[in-house]
Amino acid sequence: MTTTQANTQNPGAGTGIPDTMQAVVCHGPEDYRLEEVAVPQPGAGQALVRVEATGICASDLKCYHGAAKFWGDANRPAWAETEVIPGHEFVGEVVQLDEEAAARWGIGVGDRVVSEQIVPCWECRYCLRGEYWMCAPHSLYGFKRRHPGGMASYMLFPVEALVHKVSKDLPAAHAAFTEPLSCALHAVERASIRFEDVVFVAGCGPIGLGMIAGAVAKSPAAVVALDMSERKLELARKCGATHTVNIAEQDPVQVAKDLTDGYGADVYLEGTGHPSAVGQGLNLLRKLGRYVEYSVFGSDVTVDWSIISDDKELDVLGAHLGPHCWPAAIRMLESKVLPMDEICSHQLPLERFQEGLDLVAAGTESVKVTLLPA
Ligand SMILES: [Zn+2]
Ligand SMILES: [Zn+2]
Repeated sequence: MTTTQANTQNPGAGTGIPDTMQAVVCHGPEDYRLEEVAVPQPGAGQALVRVEATGICASDLKCYHGAAKFWGDANRPAWAETEVIPGHEFVGEVVQLDEEAAARWGIGVGDRVVSEQIVPCWECRYCLRGEYWMCAPHSLYGFKRRHPGGMASYMLFPVEALVHKVSKDLPAAHAAFTEPLSCALHAVERASIRFEDVVFVAGCGPIGLGMIAGAVAKSPAAVVALDMSERKLELARKCGATHTVNIAEQDPVQVAKDLTDGYGADVYLEGTGHPSAVGQGLNLLRKLGRYVEYSVFGSDVTVDWSIISDDKELDVLGAHLGPHCWPAAIRMLESKVLPMDEICSHQLPLERFQEGLDLVAAGTESVKVTLLPA
């Protein structure tokens, strides 16, 4: 694979923008390839962004491994498409845009920007009601041909995009963490945390750590982190967890009882994607407790639903994406309350994307793996 020089034929000439670039292209499950493709050209009202960093998400990995949520099964049609550049957790520098785009987003050439991962249609029932994150056509960057993602040197922000500025003082990998952090903060908001609550967070990966920091910011009585890795529990403490439980050694249900005069936890935030974490949450919550599910599961989960009804009358809430939480996530990153040097555990050049996917799949060594396109 060779890098291409700027070409005088191309409309970006003089701006240092080449006409081709390296990109990862998804050709289907387990078939992602590094290719030389055309640099996209911004149309009216769009922005061209030079990508600085793109995080690899657990959902990228589930898509890579062919999960039914992405590629369909007997119960649902495929949502993901092939011939798409993946990547929805990106940050970049604006290199080209017209006045319309500059005015709409309040940005200019040279600014560092993120775009929310969903590109709303602004026409469906959800968008018209302000519930844009559940937009019916539901195009996220990096899953459909219409909106190529950030695993490339350049990408376009379309007219419908929601764009936010980020400080250039942050390392690029940290700034790209805005996406997962906004998701974690939305899950926290779904839980409507109160001052007296004892909050349990399952999983100390990127989402779980963000949930811990977000829950701590709501000042409840306790924030308890659950994981099986001592290293990740140490990170959880650095994110503000008041208690940590290694579930390989200690029973979290008993810990919940011990912390609450035997009643059980008030809130459970699930961010592991492991089926066993679902039953665990139902069991450690008190009656009338609140369960928030953020994970994407690779397979069906079986639990006793009578815990939700007859036993405890629980509020079970889903959470998806990070609506209205991007400015807060950016503020949190800029104020450096999170141990980001440790959370962003691995940074790799784009051509080593396969190694990056494998690192996320192994799940033991890495926390957040970020690709840095050249
Ligand atoms: Zn993500
Ligand atoms: Zn819509």
